[in-house]
Amino acid sequence: MIIMEQKPLEEILKMLERVDNVLIVGCNGCAGIYQVGGEKQAEIMKILIGMAVKLKQNREIKTKSCAVLRQCDSQIAATSLRPIVEDYEAILSLACGVGVQTVAQLFENKLVIPANNTKFIGMQDRELGKFYELCSACGECILFETGGICPVTRCGKSLLNGPCGGQALGKCEVGGWKKDCAWVLIYNRLKEKNMLEYFTKFREPRDFRIRQGPREMGGE
Ligand code: SF4
Ligand code: SF4
Repeated sequence: MIIMEQKPLEEILKMLERVDNVLIVGCNGCAGIYQVGGEKQAEIMKILIGMAVKLKQNREIKTKSCAVLRQCDSQIAATSLRPIVEDYEAILSLACGVGVQTVAQLFENKLVIPANNTKFIGMQDRELGKFYELCSACGECILFETGGICPVTRCGKSLLNGPCGGQALGKCEVGGWKKDCAWVLIYNRLKEKNMLEYFTKFREPRDFRIRQGPREMGGE
């Protein structure tokens, strides 16, 4: 999923300084699933903004909260928001950067404000309450050859052939030997699976043109 975190309220209030009415739109996709920007968070944001604007800016602001199934789907966002958006000059989006841009493109005459900072594509560990970046969307997945561990993302230097000389006792020099060396993890995983031929295989440098943004797909 897309990992994001809410911006500090002060930053959101600053962006709302010249706004008298705002539609607060949650997203029940990634943002809602791990409770950073779903329906409930949109309701809480509405209350917080109402109170903070009154206290800190000594004025009233008209707010309404709602949530859409997925803000990154332009048809869902359009169908859900068109009937209610007209009365508002601004939209505060609690989605990831893609959702915010989708809404901004759909409603060009509105001021669209991001409520979150979008961080990365990752996995959630609910027990530890942590998120881990696992994929960089490189466009050419080699997880089969690397035992299901992504070196592009999890190796500190994104090496396709490793480990480098910077690993010590299974830890990576990047960041001060705190994190596991991805290539030691890959070696151990491939050994378990009796697939070490993929560890010794030489992988050619990548053709980075396939990652050149902004990327598009489909519709041909
Ligand atoms: S190799 Fe890594 S970055 Fe590329 S698609 Fe696979 S998991 Fe994502
Ligand atoms: S120590 Fe391991 S994870 Fe760190 S940069 Fe070298 S190969 Fe990559």
